[in-house]
Amino acid sequence: MKIANNSVVKLHYAVSDSEGTTIDSSYDHEPLEIIQGTGYLIPGLEKALEGREAGETFEVDVSAADAYGERFDEYVQTVPKELMQGVEDLEVGTQLRATTDEGEQTVIVIDVNDTEITVDGNHPLAGIDLHFDVELLAVREATAEELEHGHVHKESSCCDANGKGESCCD
Ligand code: ZN
Repeated sequence: MKIANNSVVKLHYAVSDSEGTTIDSSYDHEPLEIIQGTGYLIPGLEKALEGREAGETFEVDVSAADAYGERFDEYVQTVPKELMQGVEDLEVGTQLRATTDEGEQTVIVIDVNDTEITVDGNHPLAGIDLHFDVELLAVREATAEELEHGHVHKESSCCDANGKGESCCD
């Protein structure tokens, strides 16, 4: 069957930047399983999956705008360190939840000195054009329960053997 909205797609992918540096790959672990049309994948990749079938392999270039969005310099802010009292172990790379004009978002510490810290609210992949190598392993219709929950159920069960886990449902 061809991939359309509400198809469950099992795929392997490798993603690299425009210089060919690998950013992430599913080949190191389990294939990814997603429901097409739920926005779990970036828009450019959902678009590229549309109408394809299991067994296909393909490559696609996705511009930053169709991936994690453009980068905005104004999302980089320097604030007095004293505003961060109570936050332990602030160092470059630390992720924080911050309240901004755009609402609650994750920011990453990119610089720390004695008095100030600089945080970046851009997605780490914002502004980067991406190249995907994709292998489509299986395509099926989502079940009514999966659509209701908005995620894929493995082996017809919501939860792992212990009734707990990332994909376990309420
Ligand atoms: Zn579920």
